[in-house]
Amino acid sequence: MIFESFPVGPLACNCTILGDEEAREGIVIDPGDEVGRIHRRLTELGLKLKQILVTHAHIDHVGGALKLKRLTGAPIFLNESDLPLLEMIEAQAAWLGVGTPETAPPDESLKDGLVVGLKECPACVLHTPGHTQGSVCLHFASLKLLVAGDTLFAGSIGRTDLPGGNFEQLTESLHSRLLTLPDETRVLPGHGPATTIGDERKSNPFLQDGHPD
Ligand SMILES: [Zn+2]
Repeated sequence: MIFESFPVGPLACNCTILGDEEAREGIVIDPGDEVGRIHRRLTELGLKLKQILVTHAHIDHVGGALKLKRLTGAPIFLNESDLPLLEMIEAQAAWLGVGTPETAPPDESLKDGLVVGLKECPACVLHTPGHTQGSVCLHFASLKLLVAGDTLFAGSIGRTDLPGGNFEQLTESLHSRLLTLPDETRVLPGHGPATTIGDERKSNPFLQDGHPD
């Protein structure tokens, strides 16, 4: 399998390319920005893009999705509960002081339990609301990999003070959907370094009994 992850855009959103060298097919997760670079990399790797998966509709994750779709023809997947946030893209751009990217409704909703990804490395969609209402994590069980969006970070958790955020809901999502995964599961957060479920279970201050507030 081809697995590459690199930060894009001013907020350094981790964009991920997963590819099957045999089938020459790939997926991209969270093409928030720098679409030219992502597209060049897909071309260099000789991958035909099959799906554009977006963990949630914050501008730094979804900003380049439509541009990438136009370049490749691949469909965009985003959980439907984030449609109100997608419609606020102009306000989101204003908060950051950046230009407003063109967006379009997703081709398909990343519904809980949906299986996406490639035949050789499928991912199960875990709907984990809290950071936003439509936030999802993608669990690649065969790769022992969780792409976590902004739900879980190394040593921290997603912020809940933006529209659609809900701290109790996020806590529930973390405990019922993520801490139930095996300790050895690698976690690739939406920003910052990778970690594992085991490390976060042990040392993430937000995941201990009685969170710190
Ligand atoms: Zn976010």
